[in-house]
Amino acid sequence: MARKLPAKDVVIIGLGWTGAILGYELAKAGLDVVAIERGPWRDTATDFPPAYAQDELRYGIRLDLFLRPEQETLTFRNKANETALPIRNFVSFLPGNGVGGAGIHWNGQTWRFLPTDFRLRSHLEERYGKSMLPADMTIQDWPVSYDEIEPYYDRFEKLCGISGKAGNLRGKIIEGGNVFEGPRQNEYPNRPLVQTMAGSLMEQAAKESPTDTLVNAVWIPITRASSQMRANQAAQAVATLEVSTPYELGSPPKGADYWPSYIRGDAYLHLGDGAKAAVEYQKILDHHGINPTSQLYYLARLGSGRAYALQGDKAKAKAAYQDFFAAWKDADPDVPVLKEAKTEYAKLQ
Ligand SMILES: Cc1cc2nc3c(=O)[nH]c(=O)nc-3n(C[C@H](O)[C@H](O)[C@H](O)COP(=O)(O)OP(=O)(O)OC[C@H]3O[C@@H](n4cnc5c(N)ncnc54)[C@H](O)[C@@H]3O)c2cc1C
Repeated sequence: MARKLPAKDVVIIGLGWTGAILGYELAKAGLDVVAIERGPWRDTATDFPPAYAQDELRYGIRLDLFLRPEQETLTFRNKANETALPIRNFVSFLPGNGVGGAGIHWNGQTWRFLPTDFRLRSHLEERYGKSMLPADMTIQDWPVSYDEIEPYYDRFEKLCGISGKAGNLRGKIIEGGNVFEGPRQNEYPNRPLVQTMAGSLMEQAAKESPTDTLVNAVWIPITRASSQMRANQAAQAVATLEVSTPYELGSPPKGADYWPSYIRGDAYLHLGDGAKAAVEYQKILDHHGINPTSQLYYLARLGSGRAYALQGDKAKAKAAYQDFFAAWKDADPDVPVLKEAKTEYAKLQ
């Protein structure tokens, strides 16, 4: 039976970042606010205590913090003339579910847009001429400018305690920050995070070779993506390596040496996308000439086996595992990756 609840000034449906900020501001202004959230209640002390071991199966595979496609079906089509079909896997576009919404598990990266992003149409026309944009391209300027929104960026950064270093403070360019950013009125509220050793070495390399394409578009992204994989950030690793795509078939010593495809394959396996992982490993297997002695070439066979197994194609998976075992027949039997591969292969029988 319908239940009539006490009247409120404001009812917010869904309590993610947007609802929470609105609720906070409206309540502060004296209004009586209630928020209705479809997902569970979560709080830091009980759900995310610092000593808590992350449960990979629960969160990484079963996506406990997100809305799952079977809970509320969304459909998608690539073209207007296609029949929209249910989305079975949201991949990296994971909808929030529960108090806090997607903000419960975001990565906390809070870049500001550049001033030109707010006037993109005008900017592109000024730079490349009016004829550059096709008539049916819908790029628009925003109705607000960077200068108008800057105080709100500042406020949000303070609200969240964002860390970083200004590169443009009230028009003054500052070495060590992002010198291309729009002018900010204030420094970040927190200092930049300490770089890892790999990050520091790569920063030094970028400074020493600012125009070296292979350093900047291949080796720095490879290093960053490897760190992201270690931090269990597979989707970000894929995004990081996008810039390497035109150079991914380069040969050693300076070229990519299979790494972008290999890391991407690994990332797609982590994301549960066997088809995309198989494509990446196949790129390696199709180009033995890039580095005939590379271990990655042989490990790509194992990757292929895993990718086919993930897709349920046992025959192809077994063949790929067998290729890998044949290539590694003289390896020490206790090498961890070989042991893992044998266990996986046994499960395919
Ligand atoms: C894995 C991941 C990483 C991210 N990393 C970053 C990052 O580093 N930096 C960044 O800026 N952004 C990041 N984002 C994006 C950012 O988290 C989201 O843009 C932001 O949290 C969206 O907030 P929102 O309140 O608008 O929506 P949501 O967080 O989606 O909140 C909407 C809420 O409404 C609820 N709801 C929906 N429908 C109903 C209904 N009918 N009844 C009741 N409740 C309902 C939902 O359960 C949800 O809690 C990331 C997103 C994801 C998924």
